[in-house]
Amino acid sequence: MTGTALDTALFTAWIEEVTRTVRAEKDRLTRLDAAIGDADHGTNLDRGFTAVTQALAGTEPGSPGALLAMVGSTLIRKVGGASGPLYGMAFREAGKALGDTCEVSVAELSTALEAALAGIQRLGSAAEGDKTMVDALAPAVRALAQAAREGKEPSAAVGAAASAALAGAQATVPMQARKGRASYLGPRSVGHEDPGAASTALIVGALRAVVTR
Ligand code: ADP
Ligand code: MG
Repeated sequence: MTGTALDTALFTAWIEEVTRTVRAEKDRLTRLDAAIGDADHGTNLDRGFTAVTQALAGTEPGSPGALLAMVGSTLIRKVGGASGPLYGMAFREAGKALGDTCEVSVAELSTALEAALAGIQRLGSAAEGDKTMVDALAPAVRALAQAAREGKEPSAAVGAAASAALAGAQATVPMQARKGRASYLGPRSVGHEDPGAASTALIVGALRAVVTR
């Protein structure tokens, strides 16, 4: 069996799957944000990815990198709050890292995800343990880098990254928030999953869904 090609069609399917999942999980994300924020995370992301899918319908990006750059710019334009600029930056940086390569290797995907994480941390200056999306993305980046070093197939590599993101999101429950709105709650932020970490797990999980389809 040949592995799945990480080409523009696959990345397009990924973004469509993200849009679908975010819509399906919109209420859960908003409930998580109601507990420790301002109850808009699901709505914010749904608005953003709906706009992304609409923008995609009118164009045919020439490469995965061009597609991700377009996703990032649309999210920055359409999503308010903290998560819009942060996810926007992440997708733009990932797109820039991919350049104009047409078929992405696991190693290139790993580099792109590292660039996404670096962009988020440059903009938001959150470290692991601060109870943010970084707590889901950083373990996913490490899992993907390890899979790349081990020469894993895309499906195994992305599967490992998705599992790591999910575990990372669940690990935010006992944390006290030190960044973003949730940090205003101090110790009362403990005992709830971070909404941004939960959405990051959904986004990486959507990539697993399309790569293993
Ligand atoms: P807002 O907090 O402005 O209402 P959202 O509700 O859409 O925006 O997003 C909240 C999420 O953004 C948080 O759960 C957290 O994961 C993420 N976040 C907030 N601030 C930061 C930061 N400085 N660095 C990384 N992620 C952050
Ligand atoms: Mg919010």
